[in-house]
Amino acid sequence: MSRFSLRARWVLPVERPAIAGGTVVVSGGRIESVGDASIAEPPLYDLGDVVLMPGLVNVHTHLEFSHLEQTLGKSGMPLPDWIRLVIASRRRSDCDPKQAIRAGLEESRRNGVTTLGEIATGTCSIVSSDEFPRQISYQEVIGFSAARIDSVVGDLEHRLFEQPATVRHASIGLSPHAPYTVHPQLLERLVDLASRQQLPMAMHLAESHEELELLATVSGPFRELLEERSMWDGNAIPPGTQPLNYLQALARAPRALVVHGNYLKPVEIEYLASRRERMSVAYCPRTHAFFRHSEYPLQQMLAAGVRVALGTDSRASNPDLSLLEEMRYLARRHTTLDPSQILEMGTLVGAEALGWEEQIGSLRPGKWADLTAVACNPQSKEPVADILSGIAAPTKTWLRGRLHQPARYEN
Ligand SMILES: [Zn+2]
Repeated sequence: MSRFSLRARWVLPVERPAIAGGTVVVSGGRIESVGDASIAEPPLYDLGDVVLMPGLVNVHTHLEFSHLEQTLGKSGMPLPDWIRLVIASRRRSDCDPKQAIRAGLEESRRNGVTTLGEIATGTCSIVSSDEFPRQISYQEVIGFSAARIDSVVGDLEHRLFEQPATVRHASIGLSPHAPYTVHPQLLERLVDLASRQQLPMAMHLAESHEELELLATVSGPFRELLEERSMWDGNAIPPGTQPLNYLQALARAPRALVVHGNYLKPVEIEYLASRRERMSVAYCPRTHAFFRHSEYPLQQMLAAGVRVALGTDSRASNPDLSLLEEMRYLARRHTTLDPSQILEMGTLVGAEALGWEEQIGSLRPGKWADLTAVACNPQSKEPVADILSGIAAPTKTWLRGRLHQPARYEN
């Protein structure tokens, strides 16, 4: 495979300081070296006034909703009501889920995202090729009543049997959906399965007040939703349950991604921090804002040492799938955050959350040449702050060393 060099106004290795007039040498789809102009090997492509950085890592998506042109419902609506809209949308959708997933992968790539943590439902098989970002395809599992546990696990095993654990550029994971849709004993069975097969897990947790109410009191809007759908099991959740109980179950998995965690308490944040090698949090800033949740405990998590990676969630609660826009939103909302920390959250921390930090997430020799380039001000001395305060979308993205350029730049 080919060997070439890329030169840019700025190169952001992430693991070390930005390099002015930096060069990245790519060979066989992997990064060979990163440094100044002197390391260049022919052919050399000078990208001009751009920041060249690792491809972005979006750790939480549901690409089956990528065909939506606008979010479902209104900003600030209660989560249980929004879920009713999601269920209705799934039912009436005339869009082939595979096409929506493909559109979501294309949108991701166009926005410089080269890796995804994707929640896949039973009807959607994995779309994977050299053309698209790599992904962990977490297989979503739902089953709230004890009576359904055996059949749900049986169906899942069938699904896993049909899909090899690793298909090209995708790996399989498990996603027990959320405490209000997964019986605690089903969760334990899934953790056992994940441990036996060494699969990573992802679960929505501590997302809404209504979820905490259900766990604490076994009542409230989520109970009504489950009763409406004949899914309710009055014995599933012991009163006084907390997200911590779910964290303790997930801690047995080889790797766990806690999705949202909007309402995690200090003790739960400490619990995650003490297990940071295997447990991470997926923060979805614009989706968090869409539901008008209370202030996100980001500072507390970062101060405690929790690994906080970034996700867009789906187009059902977010206007697009651009992780760069998610990072920019974060920069505007959390002005005390260091821009380099936001860059890290969107790249290397995301890679760590998915367990792929040896392969992607920074510019280091040996890692895949998953790269993206964003236009920058030629005078800029602060490239990271510059792209986070800008509006430009990535102009070029490389997947495993192969260039993908949005059509509007081709002529
Ligand atoms: Zn989600």
